[in-house]
This record gives sequence, C-alpha cells and structure tokens, in this order.
Amino acid sequence: MPLRNVPIRQKLMLIALLTTGGTLLFAGSALIFFNVERFKEEMKDDLKILAQIVAQNSTAALSFGDRGTGAETLRSLSARKTIVAAALYDKKGRLFAQYPQGSGVEFPAQPAKDGAGFVSGGLAVFRPVELKGERIGTVYLRSDLSELTSRIKVQALTVGTVFLASGLAALLLSSRLLRLVSGPILDLSKTARAVSEQQDYSLRAEKRGSDELGQLVDAFNQMLGQIQQRDSALQEAKEELERRVDERTRELARRNEELHQSNKELDDFAYIASHDLKEPLRGIHNFSNFLLEDYAGKLDDEGRSKLETLMRLTRRMETLIDSLLQFSRLGRVDLAMDRVDLNETVAGVLDSLAITLQEEGVEVRIPKPLPKVRADRARVGEIFSNLIVNAVKYNDKPQKRVEIGMKNGSRPPVFYVRDNGIGIPEKHHDAVFRIFKRLHGRDKFGGGTGAGLTIVKKIVERHHGRIWLESSPGEGTTFYFTLQEET
Ligand code: ADP
Repeated sequence: MPLRNVPIRQKLMLIALLTTGGTLLFAGSALIFFNVERFKEEMKDDLKILAQIVAQNSTAALSFGDRGTGAETLRSLSARKTIVAAALYDKKGRLFAQYPQGSGVEFPAQPAKDGAGFVSGGLAVFRPVELKGERIGTVYLRSDLSELTSRIKVQALTVGTVFLASGLAALLLSSRLLRLVSGPILDLSKTARAVSEQQDYSLRAEKRGSDELGQLVDAFNQMLGQIQQRDSALQEAKEELERRVDERTRELARRNEELHQSNKELDDFAYIASHDLKEPLRGIHNFSNFLLEDYAGKLDDEGRSKLETLMRLTRRMETLIDSLLQFSRLGRVDLAMDRVDLNETVAGVLDSLAITLQEEGVEVRIPKPLPKVRADRARVGEIFSNLIVNAVKYNDKPQKRVEIGMKNGSRPPVFYVRDNGIGIPEKHHDAVFRIFKRLHGRDKFGGGTGAGLTIVKKIVERHHGRIWLESSPGEGTTFYFTLQEET
C-alpha cells in the first residue's frame, strides 16, 4: 500500500519510530566508534610499555650475544595470551631471538620503523633496546585483536539492547501519545462518514481539547450545525410544498368532479330540452303545413309566403336541435373502445362520401398506411367524415385536393386532414370549434349548422386527445388531432 494511503495513526507511529530509531542508531554508532578509537590508543600504549619492559630485560642478552637468555625473556610473555609473536633483533637488524619458537609464526626479516601500528589482524610495535644511550637492538611485539573484537561485540550488544529497549519504549509511549493527535482526527472522520451515510446532520464530533484539532472539530461541528439548519429549513419547505400540492391536487380533483358533474348536467339538460322541444316544433311545422295545404285559397300571397318562411325556420330549428341532441348525446354515453384499423375506418368514410367526391372531382391522397389505434370505431369515423366533408365543402378550387395521413415520428400519433380550400383566418382558429359558429352566410358553401367541428372536438377530447389547425387563407387548411393523452 502506498505510504499516502496508510492510516494516519500508523503514519504518525512510523514517523515517531523512524526519528527515534535513526537518532539512537546514530548516537550508538558514534559511541561505538569513539570507544573503539580510544581502546585502540590504550592498546598501543599498553603494548609500547610491554615492549619497553622487554627491552630493558634484554639489554644483557643482546650485549653478550646470549640468544638463550633472550629467548627466555621473550618466553615470559606467554602469560599475556594476546601476544602472538615477539622477537629481538641485534644491532645490525638480524633476528636474534623469537617467541614462539618454530610454530609457523612469521616474523619480519628486518625491524621496521620504531613505533606502534595496526597491521592486518593485529597490532605491532618496534622499540629500540638501548644501553648507555647506544642502540644495541630492537624489540618486536605483536598482539592479536581478540580484545578489541570482544570489546566491539559487547558494545554493539549493549547499543543493540538499548536500541531495542528504547524502540519498544518509544513504541509504547508514542502509541499512547499519538492517540492524542490521531484520536480526534479518527473521531472526526468517523463522524463525517456517519453523517454522509445516515444523512443525519444532528451528529457532532467530540471535542477533546482546545488545540488546533479542537478548533478543527469546532469548525466541523459549526458547519454541521449550519447544514442541519438549512436541511431542516429545506425539509420544512418541502413538506409545506407537498402539503400545498396535496391541497391543490385535492382542490383540482374536487373542481374536476364538479366540472364533470356540471358538464353532465348540462348535457342532460341539453338532451332533455332538445328532445322535449322537438315535439312542439314538429307540431308547429305540421300545423303550418296544414294551414298551407287546407287554407291556401283563403290566404293572399304575403300570407302564404310568411307561412313558408315559418316552415323553413322550423326545419332549420329542427336541424339545430338535432345537432344539439347529437352533441349532448356524446357526453352521456361511454365510448366503445376497441382496436381500430384507421385504414379501414377512412376507407369506409370515403366509401360513404363516394358520390360527393366524384361529383366534386376531389383528388384524395393517403401517402402512407395509417396505424391501428385504441378508439371508438364509430366516433373516429365521425371525426374523419366531418373533416373530409368540410375539406370538400370549404373549397373553391377547380381541382379540389384532400390529404389524409399521420405526421412523421409523432408520439402519440398525430393525424391530419389537409385541403387546398379557402383557409381560415388565424383570428377564427378557436371560434370554428364553438357550437353553431359559422364563418359564412347561412347558405354559403352548402350551408350547415356550425356544430360539426364542435362534435369533432368533443370526440377527440373524450379520447383524451387534442385538436388544432394550421391554415393559410386562400391556400388551404390542415386539421391535426391525436387520440390519446400526450405524456
Ligand atoms: P359547418 O360546416 O356546419 O358550418 P363546422 O363546425 O364543421 O360547421 O365548421 C365551422 C366553420 O368553420 C365553418 O362554417 C367554416 O366556416 C369553417 N371551416 C370548417 N372547416 C373548414 C375548412 N376545411 N376550410 C375552411 N373553413 C372551414
């Protein structure tokens, strides 16, 4: 794991151990080094003194050329275990006596410069043997380094033990002390995690002191406090909003129900009224007819003409009432929903209008096959029938054209009926859907009641669809409609 990802407690511990360990190692090594150097100087002094003693004891042997006494003197060194070689050289530098005798120990053929010095694996000293101020020979002593090695071993062991013991102590101590630093940080991170996991802003980190960490904890807690305040304000606002939306939805549902109810009552009223009006109207019509037939001779021309106007008006009243009846009936009956193939529906409508279409020389186009939809078959037939009849009726072109289709890629499907007729000025785009609203004189463009588009709109809306139009006066009109709710 990269160091930067190691938990903070271990990081701090590592820092503490590395610093104490490094310092101890450095101090221990320096101590060993200085001790060894000091010991080496002591060894030299020691060996020099010994050489001095041997030199003093060998003056007689060397001055008399007595090798036996010389060897005897050297042998006395056997008490000192560290002395591995000793020798006497005569005035001319020739080997005079040696210790130990012939045991494979090598001796320098000539004495070297006076003094002590370390050679490989040992310490060697050359010292003059003098008699009355005159040099009569040289003493050579060599000791091994076993004392030095064991001294180094002991020191290294001591330093190692101190190193380990203090390392352990540092570990124990730092693990306790570091808790002072890492404890609050870990606490802080634990609280932060809990806050984010539980989304609970009422949690607080525990403050353990007033140092920088304590200040950090304070700042963190303050921040949580602010978030908590905002959170609860937000929560309250949300609840208030939900409450209001709830209220409005209920209010809307209530109004909708009321509207539905009043629409139904209106439909019922229109239905009953128009139904009841039909009978007296028929009576008026019949009596006018009797009058005209039975009393024609007794009336003058003006009387007859007025009666004829009365009859025409009653006929018109009857068609208006029939339209109202048809319209109000639409609101009273349920739709017979089914899977409807619009190609068949449109083909049926065109069939029923075949004579008119032929007489008027209308060119009908259906660019693409139409889909199947869920709808009330008969009512959808009424939509197409009304729109196609209008497309032909409100058309003054020598070559009348009607196109029936579906808009490309529209969702839900948008159907259209397009003509190249007289068009509708924009200011009347809403008015044409009002009942009994006609844009022309009573008998212009083949007459009509002005209820057709109102009925079409009602059918579309009962399918939860929408109807609208686009038109360029003088060029033509396109009526668009859908048969299901737009999402
Ligand atoms: P009606 O045809 O019986 O008058 P509608 O409700 O079908 O009643 O139409 C209302 C009015 O809208 C019509 O009088 C006519 O002025 C206008 N209108 C309807 N369809 C078209 C059309 N395709 N082109 C031009 N005007 C139209």
